[in-house]
Amino acid sequence: MAKTDEITAILEGVDPPAANQHQNWLNRNLDVLAKFMGVPITGGVCRAMQPALRAAETNLLRLGTASTLGIRTVSGFQGNGFHGFHSWGLAIDINYVTNPYIMNESGEDVLDKQLRPVFDRICQLMVVNDPRHPEKSSIVPRLGQLRRNHQLQQAYDAIRAESEAMQRYFTLMQDGDALKQYLNSPNGYQGYKAAFGPDGVNPEPICKAPGQWTPVQLVTNSDALAVQHRMEADWTVLTSRFVPQVVPPNSKAVVCKQDDVIFERAPPLPTGDRPFDGLRGVGLLNGRSPLAGYLDMSAELVSALVNANLRWGATDFGAYSGDIMHFDCGNLGALTFPTGHTVADLKQAMSAWNRAHP
Ligand SMILES: [Zn+2]
Repeated sequence: MAKTDEITAILEGVDPPAANQHQNWLNRNLDVLAKFMGVPITGGVCRAMQPALRAAETNLLRLGTASTLGIRTVSGFQGNGFHGFHSWGLAIDINYVTNPYIMNESGEDVLDKQLRPVFDRICQLMVVNDPRHPEKSSIVPRLGQLRRNHQLQQAYDAIRAESEAMQRYFTLMQDGDALKQYLNSPNGYQGYKAAFGPDGVNPEPICKAPGQWTPVQLVTNSDALAVQHRMEADWTVLTSRFVPQVVPPNSKAVVCKQDDVIFERAPPLPTGDRPFDGLRGVGLLNGRSPLAGYLDMSAELVSALVNANLRWGATDFGAYSGDIMHFDCGNLGALTFPTGHTVADLKQAMSAWNRAHP
């Protein structure tokens, strides 16, 4: 018996679960032709979610269309198997290719230990004197705390600043000359010291002795080379892919030696669920890349959905926050399904299932 059948049976007070318990629920509650901003929702959504989507649309339609607002794909129900609220049509993912689940996924502590210094390094090197992001290190490892102290707009701006920083970081990775130039600029040198200096979160392996940090920018070729190698290792941690396989030869790139020892640091393959995972970075997920960042939804779009009381996976999943593409009905407990029962009842059924399967 599938997990979704068992949870639906608990929800509906049926014991034991009937064959097709979950499918029967879907047949009665899902609108498979549902749209958001005119974009068909792949898999459909529960009819109970539609008022929230209509409320968000009312605000968004004043600002533009799906295409001017950058809404390319929307997916709801994601097929059999357990996908959280998606399994009951109570969640949507927007532009899933370019807005990945970046960190803090359930059961991925080992991966997160590798990801944290990468996000910190990118933030420290590239986000310098940016009013959108006053913090010294990456906010990605603690996205769930962000909205305790900040308005949605501030939280969005900080995530966006880091996402754009990632794009610039890996653009520089491919161009040794531009990287060296950046490291010798006032902001770049400040970021270089923050990321790789003695006070950096993860200074290894470029840490110089304190006396070697000059008040004037002085980043040598070999300093820049070390940074570039660090970037290549970071690319691999984020994607499971080695740089030479994904970045086409660039006439301006000064390094990127395929036999460099840095690749011995690469995470083992096959891997878990890396934010830009190479194993799935083809076909359906073609276009998912650190060069595209991880947040391409506008602030207006996010804010319209959050103002409709939907939960944003980026910031509203507590310790598991980081699912940038995702919006769901987790905070709308009173929503009632066409066949009766509420979102709160479903959450109780999920908890009961979890208790029975420790
Ligand atoms: Zn989702």
